[in-house]
Amino acid sequence: MRVTFHGVRGSVPAPGPNTARYGGNTSCVEVELGDGTRLVLDAGTGLRELGKLMAPGPTRVHLLLSHTHWDHVLGLPFFGPLWRKETEIVVYPLASEAQERFRQTVTLFDPIHFPIGLDDIPSTIDFTKPSGDVWQIGSAQVSRILLNHPGGAQGFRIVDDDGSSVCYLTDNELSAKTGIVTPLDELARFAGDSDLLIHDSQYIKSDMPAKVGWGHSVVDDVLELGKLARPKRLALFHHDPDRTDDALDAIGAAAETWLQEFAPECELSVACEGDTVELPPR
Ligand SMILES: [Zn+2]
Ligand SMILES: [Zn+2]
Repeated sequence: MRVTFHGVRGSVPAPGPNTARYGGNTSCVEVELGDGTRLVLDAGTGLRELGKLMAPGPTRVHLLLSHTHWDHVLGLPFFGPLWRKETEIVVYPLASEAQERFRQTVTLFDPIHFPIGLDDIPSTIDFTKPSGDVWQIGSAQVSRILLNHPGGAQGFRIVDDDGSSVCYLTDNELSAKTGIVTPLDELARFAGDSDLLIHDSQYIKSDMPAKVGWGHSVVDDVLELGKLARPKRLALFHHDPDRTDDALDAIGAAAETWLQEFAPECELSVACEGDTVELPPR
C-alpha cells in the first residue's frame, strides 16, 4: 500500500511563504492498494494537485469523504479527471443522513456556487451505497467509524489483502466535553496496530479553551491515542491554517520526544503535502 498526502491543512487553504514547506492545501490523501485500486480520502483542495498528476485515460477513483465541510470537498470541481469522460468516480456513503442529502444534490455544482451543473460533468459519478460499515474496495477491506465533530464526520480503516493498513481519522475532537459519539478507547481499538494512523491535530494546548467544541484535537490528545493504539507510524494532520512551518517543526519535535518516552515503537511524522509513505506487506 502506498499513501500520498496531497493536502494536509484544515479549515481553509493557507497558501503563502509561512506554510510553503508543509503545504497550504486542505485535506486529501491518496491510497494506492496492492492491486492498483486508487482510493481518495477527502476532496479538499489537495485533490486538484492529485488531478494534475493523473495521466489521461480510463481511470476509476474511489472517493471516501469524512464529511462535507468546505475544506473536505472544495477540490472536487477543480479535479482535472472530473472533466474527462473516461473517468469514473465512485462516491461512498457519508457520515449522516443530512450529509447524504448534500451528496445527492451536490450543492457544489448548483448555479449559485459553480458555473457548470452536475448534468454537464462528462465523467461518471457513481453514488454507491454498500450496506453496513465494512466495504470491500479492490483488494482492501474498508471499515468506518463515527467521529466527534459538529455535524458529524466519519473515519476509515483500510486493510489491504497483504495485511498493510492505514487509519484516517479527521475531523475529530478526542476530548470533546459534550456530544462524544465515539470515545478514545473505542477509537484506539479501531486504529489499533495499524501501519499508519493519520489524525486531526489542529490544536495545541494554548489554543484551549477558546477552541473547545470546534471538533478538532489537541496534539497531546493525539499522542495519547497513539500510545493506546500503537500504530507503527502516527501522522499529525489537518494543521491549523495559522500554523507556520516553523511552528509545525516545533510541534513535531516535541511530539517525537514524547513518543520516544511513552511509545518508542511508534514513529512520528507531521503530514506534509507531497509526502509518500510506503506500507510494506505484513
Ligand atoms: Zn476539516
Ligand atoms: Zn469539519
